[in-house]
Amino acid sequence: MSPPELWLPVEINFDARGLPQREKRFLRALIEASDAMEEAFLRQMGRSPRNVGQPIAEALYPPDLTRAEFEAYLERHPDQREALLSPYTVVRRRGDDLIAVPYHEEYRPQVERAARALRAAAELAASPSLQKYLAGRAEALLGDDYYQSDVDWINVVDSAYEIIIGPYEVYFDRLMGVKTAYMSVVGRVDVEESWKLAAYSQYLPQLEESLPYPRPQGHTDRAKANAFAIVRDLYRAGDIRYGFQAIANNLPNDPRVISEYGSKKTFFMNMMEVKLQRIVRPLVEPLLDQDQLPHFNLEADFMRVLFHEIAHALGPRWVARDGQRISVNEALKERYSALEEGKADLVGFYSAHQLIRQGVIPAQRELELQVAHLTARLRTIRHGVEQAHGLASVIQLNHHLHNGAIGYDPDSGRFRVDGPGLNDSIRELMERFLALEALGDYEEVGRLYAEYGRPPDVVRAALERTAHVPVDVRPTYRILWE
Ligand SMILES: [Zn+2]
Repeated sequence: MSPPELWLPVEINFDARGLPQREKRFLRALIEASDAMEEAFLRQMGRSPRNVGQPIAEALYPPDLTRAEFEAYLERHPDQREALLSPYTVVRRRGDDLIAVPYHEEYRPQVERAARALRAAAELAASPSLQKYLAGRAEALLGDDYYQSDVDWINVVDSAYEIIIGPYEVYFDRLMGVKTAYMSVVGRVDVEESWKLAAYSQYLPQLEESLPYPRPQGHTDRAKANAFAIVRDLYRAGDIRYGFQAIANNLPNDPRVISEYGSKKTFFMNMMEVKLQRIVRPLVEPLLDQDQLPHFNLEADFMRVLFHEIAHALGPRWVARDGQRISVNEALKERYSALEEGKADLVGFYSAHQLIRQGVIPAQRELELQVAHLTARLRTIRHGVEQAHGLASVIQLNHHLHNGAIGYDPDSGRFRVDGPGLNDSIRELMERFLALEALGDYEEVGRLYAEYGRPPDVVRAALERTAHVPVDVRPTYRILWE
């Protein structure tokens, strides 16, 4: 874990002074709901946010519960399995038993506060589809049934504001990788730019078809249309506010919703720009081959992120188990997150490559995307192998270095990509990742991590040379009301 002084403080301001009163009241309600999520999240963490580099949930399970004990208990009590492994329950001891307490009971004061604020925001919202989502989300938080409001959220159109609120990601559950963390992010939507991205949706079925992995019998899952939102984020709370700052996300995570309605990708452009200037450039300049440095740019890096997010919606979602189907993350437990992040890197690159070959993306982007793939690995490896994106990047770097697809010059200390070699190396590793997800092979994923999960020496040395560059930004959000 990096010392706290390496997180670069940045202030993100939003000027609301010129907005109509009604819009200001609407925004204030969204901020209020977000603050309630912050409170709920801090309770999930069970410790003070001051100590938080990467958030780890400490209050979701009994503190002395081990994975082995929990799994043995689940074996003996199959009837409790669903409740105890639910993304929306905390696990408590009662005598010799384990019991599941729903989030909406455990965090009742916080979810009630959030629900009140969301209902108020719904009354003030300008877009009918957003009104529907906000009112539905209030109900969802009170009962932990998110399905319908997840669908409504994907279907929000023509709103100048985005709010992603609720329990979503499972990264901070280091025990089982199934419990979700409360978060909220409020953003202002660039409607025109968002629509431009929608053009990529038409290629999704074709990209899904082109992925090499074993489909289960009677496989009918098709990649559904994607919604895209380009936003400027103006407030973050809960999970998304701590640790590494997301520049994009792909939600919801409920595989039923993804199968039936697809998902929405949100891109936080102001965060992307600030990180590129303050973190990525200073890191990459001394590490990247000087001839390849000019090919590193924001446009290509944005495209890399775009396809990473698209790729989260591609590939296996279900695993066959004893005649039933379970989700891939249930099968892979705490090993899932890093594998899924690596899959998104690899499938994302592969998908963009397919579209370059078809002329949909200009050919000049090929080298830029290869360079972006390398630089993204070098920056996320700094998250450490404890973190999903960090481990995923270490595995990829090891594989590409081993294949000679990424070269290292010991004299200059710089890395470079071998274009055709990298294309092949990515495809090879991608097939392995996809097969592991399709089979839900927990043991084999463990072997992959053991084989490739240690940072190679040349990478370690390079990171030492750039240790003065902050690992990430630590934003504070300020809205100017008057
Ligand atoms: Zn991702």
